[in-house]
Amino acid sequence: ERAGDYRILHEAALRDYLAGILGLAATLGSEPASWSITEVGDGNLNLVFIVKGASGGVAVKQALPYVRLVGESWPLPLSRAHYEYLALSKQAELASGLVPALLHHNEALALTVMELLEPHIIMRKGLVAGTQYPRFASDITTFMAGTLFLTSDLALSAAEKKKAIAAFAGNHALCKITEDLIFTDPYRIAEQNRWTAPYLDALAASLRDDMDLHVAVSRLKLKFMASPEALIHGDLHTGSIMVTESQTRVIDPEFAFYGPMGFDVGAVLANLLMAYFASSGHERSPGERHAFEGWVLETVETVWNEFARKFLDLWRAGATGDAYPAALFAGEKGAARLEAERHAYMQRLFADTVGFAAAKTIRRIFGLAHNIDFELIEDPRRRAACEARAVRLARAMMVEAGAFPAIADVTGAARRLR
Ligand code: ADP
Ligand code: MG
Ligand code: MG
Ligand code: MG
Repeated sequence: ERAGDYRILHEAALRDYLAGILGLAATLGSEPASWSITEVGDGNLNLVFIVKGASGGVAVKQALPYVRLVGESWPLPLSRAHYEYLALSKQAELASGLVPALLHHNEALALTVMELLEPHIIMRKGLVAGTQYPRFASDITTFMAGTLFLTSDLALSAAEKKKAIAAFAGNHALCKITEDLIFTDPYRIAEQNRWTAPYLDALAASLRDDMDLHVAVSRLKLKFMASPEALIHGDLHTGSIMVTESQTRVIDPEFAFYGPMGFDVGAVLANLLMAYFASSGHERSPGERHAFEGWVLETVETVWNEFARKFLDLWRAGATGDAYPAALFAGEKGAARLEAERHAYMQRLFADTVGFAAAKTIRRIFGLAHNIDFELIEDPRRRAACEARAVRLARAMMVEAGAFPAIADVTGAARRLR
């Protein structure tokens, strides 16, 4: 199909389209007329259909030429489907088994057919219900260490790296959404902002007046814009992770580009911390979710520690990139100095991670896109109390970065605020 051939494929048109794709008809089995087709998209941007036949199912994602959450008044390029496909292909290669298998992609239709994840659910929903996921920390750290290290200058030649940056550079409209909605709008008066009023009115006003915070978030914004460290997922919250108790799959990398690694790691930590702060809002009797909350904070620590361990292991074993040339670190003295530098690198990455986690938290409480962790707390006074605790920690993480030299300082502060 050519560019120009784009049309939105709703049920009947989608059925005809899929019936014409050889492998897919075989996967689904039975007559196309008998396939069930259900739109399940709960995201902010795109259409997602689940299609099931007698022998199997698939998920079909199609980009719309606008932001679904807002409508046609906010156009958004269809090319994001291209970048999502490119990122999913790369992630499948670098973190195999941790993303849905790709079955078909049509560039002109901005449409991708992928493995149906079943009985997986969106992790955020499970966290709201108080479910623990024992595989999660191990899987997500394998995903992040693999995708981030192996697309960085530590693993790639300078030429490979710059080609890879170029392949994603056209995804700038999606980056701009992040730049505006995460790093700018929550700190100013913006039409799309909302918060739990009136309880958080004063806190919202204080963020708009807090120049230390404005400097800190602007530094993070600059880092996001000007640091093509690695291929990042770009939207790695718990609504982009589907889980069972024994499996983890990362979906929805349409925001992927070469950016700062801490943005992905910070997204995971922020969303766990928000699940923690929201948890008391979901309890029906005091202390009911104590074990769950302990698991969440333990997972925050494990995610950072295991990510750092796996990243360092990859570095020690496979530093095939042009950064840190081996010729400069020869002999015992060189090896010792390089090992110390690896730890200093992780310390800088940790500081970025803490800052980005804070930015990801504040935008969910004062910006356009909120999350069900807090939104499903019906009593607004109770919701606001949970949100305010998350914001207090986030503000400290952004402005008093020196107070959080290690992950235990983050979880310790979270525990004291509960
Ligand atoms: P958006 O970019 O609009 O946020 P997502 O890729 O996050 O779209 O998908 C929206 C929803 O569709 C997900 O929250 C999930 O419920 C469902 N979904 C997406 N991909 C799959 C899949 N491969 N298998 C099953 N359900 C899926
Ligand atoms: Mg999504
Ligand atoms: Mg989304
Ligand atoms: Mg998306």
